[in-house]
Amino acid sequence: MRRLLVATHNLGKLAELRSLLAELPIELIGLSDFENVTEVEETGSTFIDNAKLKASGYAQQSGSFGIADDSGLEVDALNGRPGVLSARYGGDVGFDKKMQLLLGEMDKSYNHSRAARFVCAIAIAAPDGGILHTTEGICTGNIAAAPRGNGGFGYDPLFIPDGFEETFGELSGTVKQKISHRARAFEQIMPFLRDFIAV
Ligand code: IMP
Repeated sequence: MRRLLVATHNLGKLAELRSLLAELPIELIGLSDFENVTEVEETGSTFIDNAKLKASGYAQQSGSFGIADDSGLEVDALNGRPGVLSARYGGDVGFDKKMQLLLGEMDKSYNHSRAARFVCAIAIAAPDGGILHTTEGICTGNIAAAPRGNGGFGYDPLFIPDGFEETFGELSGTVKQKISHRARAFEQIMPFLRDFIAV
């Protein structure tokens, strides 16, 4: 059975990935299965760059094949920010505050577009750190006038995906799992993973 290190300490993310990839004979392990792992800094300027840095850095440290994702929200009126800094936007404050900051910045912008997109990049690296494959999934939509709904996480209450009236905070998890940037990115990586286990 092929072994793949998932570049996360988050056991929830690991469990989500195990269920997404359940049909494939791949053993998924997380960073918590390794001692003395040095954190790989997310210094890239794109989601793909950061996913590659994490997949490559952790694969080399562990000697296993590695998979990493990086995601965030790009807002047109803010020239694509918060982008790769989505988790760090506004500093060490909760998402209620981050969403208010974002709405405040949009109000002040000369660009009145509400268009935005969630992006998720995935990279897979070999044990020597070489990048084997990358994909990017995108979910386009608009920023609501104010946060709505308590579902999901992060910026979900502000994001209205195209084709819906409700925000990700209001839509069911089942709908989000079908159309999200993450779902799309993982859908696209499946053919590579099927080949990966066949070799
Ligand atoms: P990452 O863990 O470096 O990929 O950072 C992801 C950050 O992007 C999260 O902290 C959220 O701020 C934001 N984000 C990514 N995906 C979503 C989503 O599906 N809903 C809401 N926020 C998201």
